[in-house]
Amino acid sequence: MKMAISPEDEHEQSETQADERSALRICIACRKTYEAESLLRFVVSPSLELVFDVKGIAPGRGAYVCANAVCFQNAVKKRAFNRSFKGSILVDYENLKASVKERLQKSILENLGLAFCAGQCVVGRTKVQEDSVSDKIKAIVMACDLSTRSLNELDFDEFCLKKNVMLLSGPSKNLIGQSLGRSVTGVVALLKGRISDRIVCDLLRWQFLNNPGEQMNEEISNG
Ligand SMILES: [Zn+2]
Repeated sequence: MKMAISPEDEHEQSETQADERSALRICIACRKTYEAESLLRFVVSPSLELVFDVKGIAPGRGAYVCANAVCFQNAVKKRAFNRSFKGSILVDYENLKASVKERLQKSILENLGLAFCAGQCVVGRTKVQEDSVSDKIKAIVMACDLSTRSLNELDFDEFCLKKNVMLLSGPSKNLIGQSLGRSVTGVVALLKGRISDRIVCDLLRWQFLNNPGEQMNEEISNG
């Protein structure tokens, strides 16, 4: 029998806070507190299906889980979603994980396309290292299917360290290329700005779902 879901909506701190990024939420698996945007937010559809809320703004009650395989798996195994939504929710771990990754990847690619149109990202190794550009870079995204040879040739480690730039792994060369409306693209530099913040946030969550046990977010102590 399906149980009714509590009609109470969560009270979003973000509505009253000027800076919604500072909203804190508790992971339903490990019970630790993190910044909401580093977590995965889920809502429940009218048919009691769990839906990943990629932008974190869907109305209604939400449940938050760390973007790592351990907390995500524990939340499903220990039926934390049922407790959180006070109802019986059907959850298939593998399907849910695949849908989370797919939605994050879609969001990353859409925003990369927008950023490219808006001149907020730069393509090509030479361009990235130009002085006029390099100081504006927030992160460098490398396609996940770059060959070891390309990785060695590119060698952005030192550059990123020197410039205090994040180095992130992203979708495939083909997908990145498509999203920018050009051919296969292995490396993209994101310039500092709101859209890049969004892409980085999605990339971190997308990456860390692949790495069991690794923690991307910093716990916020309650004390
Ligand atoms: Zn957690």
